[in-house]
Amino acid sequence: MKHDYTIILIGRNNFLKSISITTGYLIAIFLSFAMITISALGLFIRNANVSITEIKQNMAEEQYRNNLKRTEQLKEVVKDIRMRLHNQIVIDNKQRNFLQVAAIHQDIWSMGIGGSNRAKRMSSLSLYDSKILEELSESIDILKGQTKLRMMSIRELETKLSQNFDLWKHIPSTNPVPGSEISSGFGYRIDPFDKTVRMHEGLDLSASRGTPVYATADGVVMYADWNMGYGYTVDIDHGYGFVSRYAHLSKIQVREGEPVKRGQIIGRVGATGRAVCSHLHYEVIVAGIKVNPVNYIDFKNIVFD
Ligand SMILES: [Zn+2]
Repeated sequence: MKHDYTIILIGRNNFLKSISITTGYLIAIFLSFAMITISALGLFIRNANVSITEIKQNMAEEQYRNNLKRTEQLKEVVKDIRMRLHNQIVIDNKQRNFLQVAAIHQDIWSMGIGGSNRAKRMSSLSLYDSKILEELSESIDILKGQTKLRMMSIRELETKLSQNFDLWKHIPSTNPVPGSEISSGFGYRIDPFDKTVRMHEGLDLSASRGTPVYATADGVVMYADWNMGYGYTVDIDHGYGFVSRYAHLSKIQVREGEPVKRGQIIGRVGATGRAVCSHLHYEVIVAGIKVNPVNYIDFKNIVFD
């Protein structure tokens, strides 16, 4: 056998040993090394792949757990909003009742406005997940509709409220001389002048001369001058069919055609005209009929707007 190569090995004590091999053997040895290396490398890559798959799996699981946690949090938020909206619905019913506006029917509330626009967009998710998300989506759609409905209702109630407020501002409903005492009421009485039974068409509020007299509601002065037995008198037209009259004044502090606000001083208490002593004769006229002002005065209300 022809030896092409000689391998010299150096042993202990510098003992030299030589091995002669052929080209074929050398190639075989190299190939064996190469195969071992490739196998090792292959094994390494496979293990690495397994690790990557494991990491991916772990990450996916982690993400799933996070998603589940977030879904639970979202459910809690939806629950909280639902509770708040339920309170709003209760308040809405009370407000509509108070303002004498028909209540919104429960069925309309439970549907909300705008309807549902759920799409089958979660088909790629697992059945359980898509069910939870669909429920959440449905709840949010309803809450969205209810919020819209409540806002519409608030706008309607605001309009009604401002109408009512305007009416309220024009109804003579305060005491024109706060703190005064009623010395003579509305109705038949013995006239202090001729001692005969006569209809007393107003309220006499006892107060000393010069005490301020306040307008009992918003309106426009329709008369401000001497008026026979009434003495110096102010008549205020409040609109909505309401007129108030303030008589026996010692002083008039407004002019005809002047707009006045509730609580504004219009004159001073006196005893002009047919009056025995200093007092305000106060009348409330509704659609041309003189009514008992007591029914219109909230005696506790001395605070003006
Ligand atoms: Zn009187």
